[in-house]
Amino acid sequence: MKSHLLPDYKVTIDRETCTVCRGCVIQCTFNVYSFNKEKNRIDIDANKCVDCQRCITFCPENSITVAPTPIQYKQNASWDRENIRNIVKQAEAGGILLTGMGCDKPDFTFFDRLLLNASQVTNPSIDPIREPMELRTYLGSKPSLVNLTSTGESWTDISLASPQLQVETPIIFSAMSFGSVNLNVQEALARTAVSSGTYFNVGEGGLNPRLNKYADHLVLQVASGRFGVHKKYLDAGAAIEIKIGQGAKPGIGGHLPGEKVTEEVSATRMIPKGTDAISPAPHHDIYSIEDLSQLISVIKEATDYSKPVIVKIAAVHNSAAIASGIVRAGADIIAIDGMRGSTGAAPQVIRDNVGIPIEMAIASVDSRLNQEGIRNRVSLIAGGGIRSSSDVVKAIALGADACYIATAALIAMGCTVCQKCYTGKCPWGITTMDPVISRRLNPDIAAKRVENLIRAWSLEIKEMLGGMGINSVESLRGNRHQLRGVGLTERELEILGIRMVGS
Ligand code: SF4
Ligand code: SF4
Repeated sequence: MKSHLLPDYKVTIDRETCTVCRGCVIQCTFNVYSFNKEKNRIDIDANKCVDCQRCITFCPENSITVAPTPIQYKQNASWDRENIRNIVKQAEAGGILLTGMGCDKPDFTFFDRLLLNASQVTNPSIDPIREPMELRTYLGSKPSLVNLTSTGESWTDISLASPQLQVETPIIFSAMSFGSVNLNVQEALARTAVSSGTYFNVGEGGLNPRLNKYADHLVLQVASGRFGVHKKYLDAGAAIEIKIGQGAKPGIGGHLPGEKVTEEVSATRMIPKGTDAISPAPHHDIYSIEDLSQLISVIKEATDYSKPVIVKIAAVHNSAAIASGIVRAGADIIAIDGMRGSTGAAPQVIRDNVGIPIEMAIASVDSRLNQEGIRNRVSLIAGGGIRSSSDVVKAIALGADACYIATAALIAMGCTVCQKCYTGKCPWGITTMDPVISRRLNPDIAAKRVENLIRAWSLEIKEMLGGMGINSVESLRGNRHQLRGVGLTERELEILGIRMVGS
């Protein structure tokens, strides 16, 4: 059957400057380039190009150009390029269209329609370079009352506080499992978590022994597939996260293709090599809040009540009511993952059409828990679409205690968001299990780049806090007076709990 798919990109090599070093042939994992011995030149098959920009970055002569192709499907106001292309693909493959990374549709990002306040005359702004600015945050359940006892000379706090996660900056690395990313990536994130005073969530793929030395800075997941979960696993790590849902694919399970289940992945996940790792859509031991409560209790009991339990849900229509139930089930932290969250592989139709943006979810959950008087019993982590330090600040002002980031950390390492993670051919050595391509990612350099990003964002957060006249992240949490909306409807403003610009 002749394919009707038109190429997405036009790849050109400037033959004047190209020295035929063949670097592009090696760098391109999608086999776009081949060396033509007869003509002593590089041949191009642009149909295979995914615009990962690896060849452009590494071409020593800057001879390569990749641009959207001028050849287009015939479009009209109703049938756009993407719809036509998807139908052509499905007519040829007959299956669900997969994609990687997060939703790329416009109009789902509310952060860009929120503006921050700055102090002017009263409540003066603070210079973060010369005055103390506290980014340290404690995540976990806080007691309703502070219980003090006096020895006559001093007071001692004897409140029964649950175990807390201490973060030096309100940014945590979200779940990235071994299999979805390779061990070099996981190690780089774990190292950065240590050096930046934060945590890395190893996701649902179990804990590889290479990460044991970073255990104090790891969050370990118990997901529906229960890959790699055993007593020692629960004992390692600083917190346990029960993953109910994921922003990129709410309501469906996970799928790691068999090609990515290498010897090491199979040992870590405790599944046979080369088999598909399927996480069922539901946890088969959770069908109610009572069941969830029981699982939380079991995990706490198994770990001697020594570490906080996080429950991660996808942001969906009734997140606020769900969160209320999760607090009552005994979780210490709730992580909410918005619909723009990334993943290694998801059906495109789910990624782009299911769930709600994190801004709406975090605001409605924070409001509901405050109304019910139970906000102190849980910390909230907002994830799924956090792209910058200003997104972090806005998420915290909307009610989060801290933010999960993942794509931003991968971009810092080299990812160009080409969205082909599910192919296992990541040219930047990030989401591939191929032992040779994985070596493209040097964990030392990657850790340094991510550490720089966290440092830069932390400095920017201090600048924004100082500008608002606030000297600690905790004072910003849920402080929606610091936000104003632009281009939002009355109802959107109401849900976000903020006012219009100019008012
Ligand atoms: S897929 Fe990437 S490396 Fe290959 S030609 Fe396209 S941009 Fe270059
Ligand atoms: S991780 Fe790799 S494959 Fe995935 S979007 Fe980034 S560059 Fe592309």
